[in-house]
Amino acid sequence: MILPKNNRLTSEQVNEITTIVAEFGCKIQPIVGAVRTIYAIVGDERDELMINRLEGLDYVERIDRIQSPFKLMDRRSDLANHRLKIGDVTLGEELLVIAGQCTIDPKNPNYYLETSQAVKEAGADALRGGVWKPRTNPYSFQGDARSLEILMDASRRTGLPVVTEVMELEHINLALDAGVHVLQIGARNALNYSLLRQVGRAIAGRPTAVMLKRSIHSGPLAEFISAAEYIAAFGNPNVILCPRGTQPQLEGYRNQPDESITPLLKEKTWAPVVVDPSHSVGKAAYVPAASLAAVAYGCDGLCIEAHVSPSHGIGDDPKQAVTPSALAELVKRCRSLHASLRPQPAAARA
Ligand code: PEP
Ligand code: MN
Repeated sequence: MILPKNNRLTSEQVNEITTIVAEFGCKIQPIVGAVRTIYAIVGDERDELMINRLEGLDYVERIDRIQSPFKLMDRRSDLANHRLKIGDVTLGEELLVIAGQCTIDPKNPNYYLETSQAVKEAGADALRGGVWKPRTNPYSFQGDARSLEILMDASRRTGLPVVTEVMELEHINLALDAGVHVLQIGARNALNYSLLRQVGRAIAGRPTAVMLKRSIHSGPLAEFISAAEYIAAFGNPNVILCPRGTQPQLEGYRNQPDESITPLLKEKTWAPVVVDPSHSVGKAAYVPAASLAAVAYGCDGLCIEAHVSPSHGIGDDPKQAVTPSALAELVKRCRSLHASLRPQPAAARA
């Protein structure tokens, strides 16, 4: 919909916009009001170049888009009934709890193996564990491909599916070959469109899922969902949206907690939302409240950093990881809140 700066366009202006939209297979239909005339674009209006050219005209106030820029991830798309299952949990039915260390220490595999068993006993449905790490400081530990074996060993021992972050094609291929169930795209790569394409292409035709973190900056909803569209466009719609806090941070927290984004996302997309409270608040003591808030806002799951001995952890674990006993308590409370928010069958209400 084209809204002109003046009450109506001159015939030269109408001719100009008609010629532009015709190049993209569209037509213009004026909607004449008593005071103001607006101009509908009839046809597929999703081409960015067409919109850019119209927005660049100095007599155009703004363009309101009617069609969604993300045709697969849109809540009204045919994929809206798509159900994603991670391990035994169908997202949207039960709360998915992913837990585990930020980073697997290749020199101390037992910590990861013990943590994995302990988070399973605490109620986790899937394991997280960083093999390759995006670090701000180039001299910090960057991860180690040997940790992939430890991750898969933990998966076999616990019977739980695993999530790990990939930052380049080589990681994607190694992780898929090893049998990783969910590939994570981290907040720093959330808008790396070539990586999003690579991961979309790599998972096409496989049962693998991708957990896409929200970008570190406080970007618009459409930017987040469009990033997921990049992955789904290759044919595998198993994409999970993961809000994890944005910058600038709330003083005292690592980031600006953004679990309140879930109901807004759900108005626009059918994609499941799994919130990461650990990176959001950045301190173990605040993780339980942030997890409960995330569930109250309607998320489908949580991804929580946990460690049997946080002070022996590497990466974020010394600060962020909750202990297995804290995890068990928060999982119990979150599951009970989640169940209480689900619509009750009529018989149970009576
Ligand atoms: C992580 O999951 O450990 C991580 C680095 O996450 P993010 O990309 O959200 O910072
Ligand atoms: Mn981390």
